[in-house]
Amino acid sequence: MLPDIRSQNRDTLAAQFASWNQPAYRLDQLLGWLYARRAASWDEMSNLPKALRAQLVAIYSLNLPLLVTKQGSRDTTQKFLWRLADGALIESVLIPANPALYGEASDRHTLCISTQVGCAYGCRFCASGLDGFKRNLAPHEISGQILAIERWADSSAERGTRSAEPAPSASGTPRSPLPAPRSDDRVVNNIVVMGMGEPMANYDNLMTALRTLNAPWGGGIGARRITISTSGLAPRIRDLANDPLQFRLAISLHGATDEVREKIMPVNRKYPLRDLTAACEYYVTHKGKMITLEYILIAGVNDSLAQTRPLADLAHRLHAKVNLIPYNTVEGLPWSRPDDETCEAFAGALEHEGVTATLRREKGHDIDAACGQLRLKTEKAEANSEDAKTQS
Ligand code: SF4
Repeated sequence: MLPDIRSQNRDTLAAQFASWNQPAYRLDQLLGWLYARRAASWDEMSNLPKALRAQLVAIYSLNLPLLVTKQGSRDTTQKFLWRLADGALIESVLIPANPALYGEASDRHTLCISTQVGCAYGCRFCASGLDGFKRNLAPHEISGQILAIERWADSSAERGTRSAEPAPSASGTPRSPLPAPRSDDRVVNNIVVMGMGEPMANYDNLMTALRTLNAPWGGGIGARRITISTSGLAPRIRDLANDPLQFRLAISLHGATDEVREKIMPVNRKYPLRDLTAACEYYVTHKGKMITLEYILIAGVNDSLAQTRPLADLAHRLHAKVNLIPYNTVEGLPWSRPDDETCEAFAGALEHEGVTATLRREKGHDIDAACGQLRLKTEKAEANSEDAKTQS
């Protein structure tokens, strides 16, 4: 298979165009088609000469994820299931009008994206790892989730069928289908890398994708509006701290002691809290940025008030805020969501300890929002229909 053009950076493409003796403005035209106009085919690139398009087709592929299905919930959180060029399925979740969970300002449209097909990390509560790890996503498959959502939003707006309108542009004017690639003019203006897969286990491809999404010639989305989550890969946290771009960091903690974390997150055996905390301190020192501790509350596992003191100690040590997320049940797994009183008491105890804590009513509770569930259901249904065809 040819390399996808959206997995190449500007310098590589510039060198390629120079070797073809193309004037510099042709590269800008191409990049405009790729990232501002979110082209899904070479034929759309009407202002590029046919001969140049033929040269591009000969050495690059051009793919965006294809929409398989979309589920919207009552609160307008929407989950997208995509099929990639090799048939693999991945998920993204669009969360409109969220309060400022990650970015500095209100997160008007946050997209949660996937970085792998399946996951090898096997957190006990998670649907994404249930079917094992299939492969890493390439850079264009990571950035393509944003572009495909925005294409969908534009086409839905044209048809007048979109259930969640994108935020108006900064000037309040109607959104053009061909906007300049600036964060304020995009449908997606905040990204959380928290979907299927362990992002830091696909570090190089992820960083290539995020640099493109951040670059002025690419997505133009500010680094501070991009949050990378990890279950605790300490060496990669240090790599992120050493990166010049100011991406935000969130830790999927889910337990404030090694004992609790080890019960539900096998990664803790390799990188126990001592190592994880040291890596986070390194990040905070180097970046001068606040990190977020994600804590999914699971009934009878990590929702005891006994966890709040060590969690508060950790939050104070790291100058971190805490996002509490009541568990979304996953079909086939034994875990459940604590009742509202337990969640409130947990949040209250943290606040009493002086911690900034947000208790999130997980949006999308009614749309299989726990990552990986929609993919699993669809894969099962497709496998059953294949079996039925074979038997008939
Ligand atoms: S929570 Fe994240 S790291 Fe853990 S299994 Fe799920 S996708 Fe993988």
